[in-house]
Amino acid sequence: DPRIAKIASSIRVIPDFPKPGIMFQDITTLLLDTEAFKDTIALFVDRYKDKGISVVAGVEARGFIFGPPIALAIGAKFVPMRKPKKLPGTFLFLPLVACDFDIKLHERSQLGSWKVISEEYSLEYGTDTIEMHVGAVEPGERAIIIDDLIATGGTLAAAIRLLERVGVKIVECACVIELPELKGKEKLGETSLFVLVKSA
Ligand code: 5GP
Repeated sequence: DPRIAKIASSIRVIPDFPKPGIMFQDITTLLLDTEAFKDTIALFVDRYKDKGISVVAGVEARGFIFGPPIALAIGAKFVPMRKPKKLPGTFLFLPLVACDFDIKLHERSQLGSWKVISEEYSLEYGTDTIEMHVGAVEPGERAIIIDDLIATGGTLAAAIRLLERVGVKIVECACVIELPELKGKEKLGETSLFVLVKSA
């Protein structure tokens, strides 16, 4: 597809950002290229329309750029997966072990949509967390998870766990860019990954 090469060339690579040794893939230049941005969204929309997807979950921050136009075009809702302590609502502790469907339904009816659940994941040094509202989705809904880039896969793996804990079926994870050398795909388990651009 000729659109892919144009999208790839619209992404700027910044050496040593945010720290020495990192080749940062900067998608802000893709956003300035109206054709590349439109084609990026169109490629995802073509893939996910007519697949019974009712949830587009976007990972903060750049999943918030690509997710909403896809959600609007395929007639799905957009659910933000946020950095810690950004979502209003009470933090709800759920054990990390998978609980069964009845328990999840019970939690939903008891606690409502303002409750926040969270998943921790490892970084090179330390951990990070993403959070979502329990009531944003219904058990049995079909979702895709969108982010700009998959590196080690830790972020998307945490997003998968969050949605699966509330009974959502993850159809696929989708990213603009994959760094295949980091083998992030292996962290996603059974969930498939779709990417537009592979980068060294
Ligand atoms: P992972 O959890 O897969 O190691 O890292 C992916 C997350 O880090 C994504 O949310 C992504 O936005 C961010 N990220 C890591 N490296 C880069 C990069 O080179 N460019 C951009 N745009 N995001 C990055």
